[in-house]
Order: sequence, then C-alpha cells, then structure tokens
Amino acid sequence: MGIGRPEDSTDAIGRGIDLFDCVLPTRNGRHGLLFTSEGLLRLRNQRYRDDPRPVDPACDCPGCRHYSRAYLRHLHQIDEMLGARLGALHNLRFYLRRLQDARAAIRDARFAAFRAQVHELASRSPS
Ligand SMILES: [Zn+2]
Repeated sequence: MGIGRPEDSTDAIGRGIDLFDCVLPTRNGRHGLLFTSEGLLRLRNQRYRDDPRPVDPACDCPGCRHYSRAYLRHLHQIDEMLGARLGALHNLRFYLRRLQDARAAIRDARFAAFRAQVHELASRSPS
C-alpha cells in the first residue's frame, strides 16, 4: 500500500487501519538500512566496521542475538546473501514489535503519546 515507514503505519493505525502490506521492511533490510529502537542504522557505514554491538540491543531477532554490527556489515559489503536475509528478518521483527507496542498503547489509552514517540524516533537522522 506504500505506507511502509513506521511513522506512516502508526498514523494509519490511529485512523483505524489494521492491515498492512509493504516491501519497505524487507527491501531496506536486504540493503542494510535497519530500523532500530534508537533510529535508522545504515549498516554499510564505515563506523560499524569494528563495532561488536548488536544492531539493536533491544531486538531478539537472530541477527541481533548472534552477530555483531561488524559481522553483519561485512556480510553486506561482500554481498553475502545471509546479510540480506538477516537484515530483512531484523526489520520484520522490528515491525512486529512496533505493532505489538501499538496494540498495547491503544489498550492502555496512551496511543497519542506512543504516536508522538514514533515520530520523534523517525525524525532522527540515519546513522
Ligand atoms: Zn534484530
């Protein structure tokens, strides 16, 4: 539907939409642009060459549980398919967690604050 960015889907949820289908999480993941609890992360950036941290410490996907940013960056740099797959899995896990958080925010009557938090995170420049 072309409503792939987290802030766009959050806005749509606020309008009552609860079904989404977009390539953005997997396409971005395949290319090393990863959504994290701290904002966007461009895995191909030189700064991650020796970074031993997971892509997102708050994430429980296979890539974050088992590999460092440096290793995942290496996979992307050499166009190893595992890097693309782990990136796509990470972004899908991020979106699923985001939707779980949205449901909890609606249930707890704090969706407006949740939406503001999502937009604040999205306004951070990619790193
Ligand atoms: Zn992850």
